[in-house]
Amino acid sequence: MQMKFVFPAPAITTLPVVGGDGVVPVRRIYCVGRNYAEHAREMGSDPDREPPFFFTKPSDAIVANGTAIAYPPATKNLHYEIELVVVIGKGGANIPVAKALDHVYGYATGLDMTRRDLQGEAKKGGRPWDMGKGFDQSAPCSAVQPASKIGHPNKGAIWLKVNGQTKQSSDLSKQIWKVEETIAYLSGLMTLAPGDLIFNGTPENVGPVVAGDKLEGHIDGVGDLSVSYR
Ligand code: MN
Repeated sequence: MQMKFVFPAPAITTLPVVGGDGVVPVRRIYCVGRNYAEHAREMGSDPDREPPFFFTKPSDAIVANGTAIAYPPATKNLHYEIELVVVIGKGGANIPVAKALDHVYGYATGLDMTRRDLQGEAKKGGRPWDMGKGFDQSAPCSAVQPASKIGHPNKGAIWLKVNGQTKQSSDLSKQIWKVEETIAYLSGLMTLAPGDLIFNGTPENVGPVVAGDKLEGHIDGVGDLSVSYR
């Protein structure tokens, strides 16, 4: 017997694939906290003594490249965080570092948008970060470049411009935890599945966005991402 939904089922979030006729169905969004030493320091942490930690966003927080996004509610301090996004293509648990890249379908350029004031209050109160990190439209993401085409980028420029002015500028080689290490570590906490995304943390010089701003992000060999706030 076919199941009858009592109201329409939610749409599956998808990401386009560069040069492909298929799309990536998004399952979960994992995010790495503090994966660049200079960003960890600007957030008041010691980057040398912390294993990676993770938080999540709902899959429908994804925003397509080119979108004009409404400035989100309940914040006066929305921040950008430019990040490398890993797209898992093959699931697994307890994945060894040496096999981890076999589980990657591809890569994209993403923004971990953050209501910094709400995150800050949560930190202070020892409360969850969800409302600071996993709010509606908090995950703009470019199209996906398959690893079969571009390989596995572990160095190269990552930058973010606001209204044409460079705000964040670093190199993928400065990630504390390499993509394969992050996958191995995360897969020991949660079973990964195809369509899971991992936002790999942002370099230093995060900062605020106001209505009217245009954000342009870039990662060498991976792609460009452009969104604006209204
Ligand atoms: Mn982040």
